[in-house]
Amino acid sequence: MRPGIRVSFEFFPPKTAEMEQTLWEAIGRLEPIAPSFVSVTYGAGGSTLERTHSTVRRIATETALMPAAHLTCVAATRGEVDAVIRSYRDAGVRHIVALRGDPTGGAGERYAPHPGGYRNAADLVDGIKCATDMDVSVAAYPEKHPDSPSVDADIDMLKAKVDAGADRAITQFFFENDHYFRYLDRVRARGINVPVVPGILPVQNFKQTKSFAGRCGASVPRWLAERFDGLDDDVATRKLVAAAVAAEQVLDLVGQGITDFHFYTMNRADLVYAICHMLGLRPMVKQAA
Ligand code: FAD
Repeated sequence: MRPGIRVSFEFFPPKTAEMEQTLWEAIGRLEPIAPSFVSVTYGAGGSTLERTHSTVRRIATETALMPAAHLTCVAATRGEVDAVIRSYRDAGVRHIVALRGDPTGGAGERYAPHPGGYRNAADLVDGIKCATDMDVSVAAYPEKHPDSPSVDADIDMLKAKVDAGADRAITQFFFENDHYFRYLDRVRARGINVPVVPGILPVQNFKQTKSFAGRCGASVPRWLAERFDGLDDDVATRKLVAAAVAAEQVLDLVGQGITDFHFYTMNRADLVYAICHMLGLRPMVKQAA
C-alpha cells in the first residue's frame, strides 16, 4: 500500500430493495480497501432519516468500517435533531457530517431556518460538540456556496464551523485542482488549520453531473464536456474515460502533496475501486483469528 494515502467513501441511503443490493455490493467491494470512514447522506428535509439511520447502523454492526452519519438542520426543531444525535451516539456511531442542508423547496430556493431549529451548520456543530465527543466533519466549497455573497463570507462560515469544533472539512466536488489550491490558500490565510479533504466525484453519468454541478455551484470545464462528448449511449467507454479523468485528478493532487481523499461513490464501487488501486491502495488481507 502506498504509505500515507487515506480515503473515505460516501454513500446515499437506498430507496428500494434493488438499490439496497447495489449499495451493499459496493460496500462489500470497497470494505477491504480499509477506508478511514464511510459516510451516509441525509435526504432533504430529513426525508431519509430512517434509511440513513438503518444504513449507518448496519454498517456499524455488520462491517469493520467506521460509519459517519450526515445530519442536517432542515425542517426540524433542535429537540428533534438532538434526539437523532443521541440515537447515533447510543448506537456507537462516532462521527457526524454536520450540514445546514438545502431548503425544502430544493437548492436555489431561499433557505429559512426552522423557527425552533439549528440556524446553520456552525450552530449544529456547536450542538453536537456540547452534547457528545463525536468527530464532526463539515462541508467546504472551493468554488463558493451558491447562497454565499462572496468567497470571503463563505470562508467566514467555514471558520465559524471550525471554531464551533469541526474536526475536518470535506469539499464539494470540483474538476479543476487549481480551484481547490486557491481555496486552500485562502482558508489557511484565514487561520483555519483543520484538514480540508478534497471531495472527488468520479463521473458516472456526465449529464447528471452537469445538472447537479449547476445546482451546487461547481463548474464543469469545457475539456470535461469534450471528453464525454458522444458517449451518452456508450457505457463501457464512458466508464474508462471517467476512471481516467478521476485518476488524473487525484494523481495530480497527490503530486502536490495531498494525501486524503473523500470519494462520492454514487453507491457504485468499480470506478472508485480502480482509482484507489491507482493510488496504490490494495485490499487488506483479513488476519486469521
Ligand atoms: P452552512 O455552512 O451553514 O452554509 C453554507 C453557505 O451558505 C455558507 O458558506 C454561507 O456563505 C451561506 N450561508 C449560510 N447561512 C447564511 C445566511 N444566514 N446568510 C447568508 N449566507 C449564508 N445536503 C443534504 O441535504 N444531505 C447531505 O447528506 C449532504 N451532504 C453533503 C456533504 C458534503 C461533503 C457537502 C459539500 C455538501 C453536502 N450537502 C448535503 C449539501 C449541503 O447541505 C448544502 O450545500 C447546503 O445548502 C449547505 O449546507 P452547509 O452545511 O454547507 O451550510
